[in-house]
Amino acid sequence: ASTWADVPQGPPVSITEAFKADSFNEKINLGVGAYRDDQGKPHVLPSVRTAEDKVVQAKLNKEYAGITGVPEFTKAAALLAYGSDSSALDRVVITQSISGTGALRIGGAFLQRFYPGAKKIYIPTPSWANHAAVFKDSGLEVEKYRYYNKDTIGLDFEGMVADIKGAPKGSVFLLHACAHNPTGVDPTPEQWKVISEAVKAGGHFAFFDMAYQGFASGDTDKDAFALRYFVEQGHNPCLAQSFAKNMGLYGERVGAFSVVCTDAAEKKRVDSQIKILVRPLYSNPPVHGARIASEILNDPALNKQWLGEVKVMADRIITMRALLKKELENLGSKHDWSHITSQIGMFAYTGLTAEQMDTLAKEHSVYATKDGRISVAGITSGNVKRLAAAIHAVKP
Ligand code: PMP
Repeated sequence: ASTWADVPQGPPVSITEAFKADSFNEKINLGVGAYRDDQGKPHVLPSVRTAEDKVVQAKLNKEYAGITGVPEFTKAAALLAYGSDSSALDRVVITQSISGTGALRIGGAFLQRFYPGAKKIYIPTPSWANHAAVFKDSGLEVEKYRYYNKDTIGLDFEGMVADIKGAPKGSVFLLHACAHNPTGVDPTPEQWKVISEAVKAGGHFAFFDMAYQGFASGDTDKDAFALRYFVEQGHNPCLAQSFAKNMGLYGERVGAFSVVCTDAAEKKRVDSQIKILVRPLYSNPPVHGARIASEILNDPALNKQWLGEVKVMADRIITMRALLKKELENLGSKHDWSHITSQIGMFAYTGLTAEQMDTLAKEHSVYATKDGRISVAGITSGNVKRLAAAIHAVKP
């Protein structure tokens, strides 16, 4: 028999196959987790174009970066996340990563190797589909905590806090810093304060995944509230950052993983181990995307321009949410669609069932995931009417 004769067929990982196969020219793809402009086209930020031109013109060499990447980039990434006045800045260990996924994976591996408590991580129900896989493949056990209440299409705040309080002392909790994927449901600042207390009371450890800083509200400081609040309250969290969404650098794979340490001596030890961990994984990260991000973060004029462009993206999403809700109301929908505008970030959790999502695809050529999640980035002023009509038809 052939060497791989016993390799079983796995399920498809991508959700776009049915969309590709549909020949209807008004088909709508709400499955992709990437920003689209109002013409439905991929969008390269003008600040990214400018930064890239600068990088190319500088005619830099192609030598390896260090194991932890481009230092000007990681330094600026830490500033962006923790804030320029943060007490964490001089005790944070940071390494460049293969975007947010790679940051999560380094984090998983670091916890697996060094976390003194149970090698188990609690993730929300539901969570980004890749979280469980990343952490399992890092050698951690994955457990769930309550997060989403399908009756209110909102946060199950009591359930979440109860699960944090009920977990064994010293558990690790994965928290979406903002723009929770897939639900678009975030705790309020007041609720974050209670969550911080509960994490502290349990002697737990917080691992923040911040894949959408700036993309949620349009303001990078506002979106970092939870992370910064935790640090202020004396937590020493770790953090996965992605520049895929907020800079539109998806395929460049720009991210960072950081650990807030107690003091300089601890920082030195943790830093040495992060290097030992990364080296056999991929030796060192790619430089091009990090150089682009570094230009944007470190050049004051470009940085200002970028912040404006992030806001334009966030605002378009917020506008499309309002428009979809209005169109549904115009059609006379009896349902309450206020969750569409109260949710935040790239995705809306419609509350539609798997069967309704199936009908949306089969009868209306509207494609998204079975859990009822739609990418608001795929909605345009040109397709929102047809989308609302399709949703109204499957859920009259
Ligand atoms: N975390 C969450 C919650 C995400 O939604 C994503 C992107 N879909 C990521 C991490 C990582 O994305 P990337 O590896 O492209 O940065």
